[in-house]
Amino acid sequence: SDKKYDPYRPSSHTFDLLTRDAKILCQELKPKPEEETRKLALLKKLSDIAREVFGEAEVLPFGSSGNGLALANADMDVCVFLNTKPGSEEVSPVEFVERIGDRLEKDADFENILQLKRARVPIVKLNHVNGIACDIGYQNDLAIWNTRMLRAYCKIDERVRDIVVIIKLWAKRRKINNPYTGSLSSYAYVLLVIHVLQKRGVLPNLQAIVTGNGSIPFWPCQGFNRYFFEDIPNLMRYWQPTPEALSQSVGELLYEFFRYYASEFRYANQVVSIRSGGLLTKEAKEWTKDFTQAQQQQQQQQQQQPPQQPSESSTETDSQVETPPPADAKPVVKNRYLFCIEDPFELDHNVGRPVDRYSLFTIRGEFMRAAKILSRNGDGAIPRLCTERE
Ligand code: ATP
Ligand code: MG
Repeated sequence: SDKKYDPYRPSSHTFDLLTRDAKILCQELKPKPEEETRKLALLKKLSDIAREVFGEAEVLPFGSSGNGLALANADMDVCVFLNTKPGSEEVSPVEFVERIGDRLEKDADFENILQLKRARVPIVKLNHVNGIACDIGYQNDLAIWNTRMLRAYCKIDERVRDIVVIIKLWAKRRKINNPYTGSLSSYAYVLLVIHVLQKRGVLPNLQAIVTGNGSIPFWPCQGFNRYFFEDIPNLMRYWQPTPEALSQSVGELLYEFFRYYASEFRYANQVVSIRSGGLLTKEAKEWTKDFTQAQQQQQQQQQQQPPQQPSESSTETDSQVETPPPADAKPVVKNRYLFCIEDPFELDHNVGRPVDRYSLFTIRGEFMRAAKILSRNGDGAIPRLCTERE
């Protein structure tokens, strides 16, 4: 196996304690049925509004509300799809945001409505009076597909959800789960987890499993291939976990996750790629140069005319920006390649692009802290792992 010698490797007793505590915490973090009910009600309300404004419209949940990886009190990500009749005018993303945003303003049930028209992917953010925060996107098919793929990965093995939930909580409490401030989205952390589980033989590469004979099918979606093997009940016909993979506990896999990103992964030249079931190099992907000085200046000039609001132009990612940026925020969005995590479908998209030199230092420091905590005494390690950082 590819297990490297590790002098800090905890005892199996420690792993048992970590597993026990991780499972208890996961259970506590599960959203209550009452929360699901509120989300369904909000979804219904948004569907009615979308239909009223645009005629035929469908509203689909994605992100953690669609993939089963939500913590209690998570936001809801939804995406609106319009069924425009042949011959009728297409609705642009900006127009969509304006029209639905203006309609929502008239409804007393919605508060803090924000129209992010110039974000990479335009969205409306809002809070519903029933306590749920929600991001509304538009015609983002790939987001629906990557949500479905993450859900498929979770269905393969129940350890996946436990591990992801602990890591999401850890990232939130340690304040490294905000793409706006240079850290990573939850989506990025889930990709990091899947990579480690693929390496350990716990998960297959669903995008490489082919049922017929021949090559991987090409199912086009927004210019990319959205194919993946989704028939999880029949997965065993095509792939089996190794006996070793089956025997690893949640505690052991959590430790492995942190150890891997603390000391094995080579940030300088490797790229995490769940689509290829392993690692790629930055050279191979041509992800070597961050924005050059010239490109950066050019971009800054473009952004000076017309002046844009930082809250819109600096939105780093799709819909997961939770806090509005500070007024003095630099409005320049850069393609950085310091922490390289390939999007499984949008292959030219680095999901780790918000990470800069300073936040990388912070994030790596957190991986090291976590590995250290888990490698000592297992008793109380999980709560200590997830203590709030000031
Ligand atoms: P949380 O419960 O913390 O909100 P989440 O599972 O909803 O976590 P998010 O990071 O909010 O994860 O992302 C929601 C969805 O948005 C993802 O499933 C993905 O479809 C899309 N997404 C988020 N970030 C990116 C990104 N950087 N690139 C591409 N798609 C993204
Ligand atoms: Mg979300």
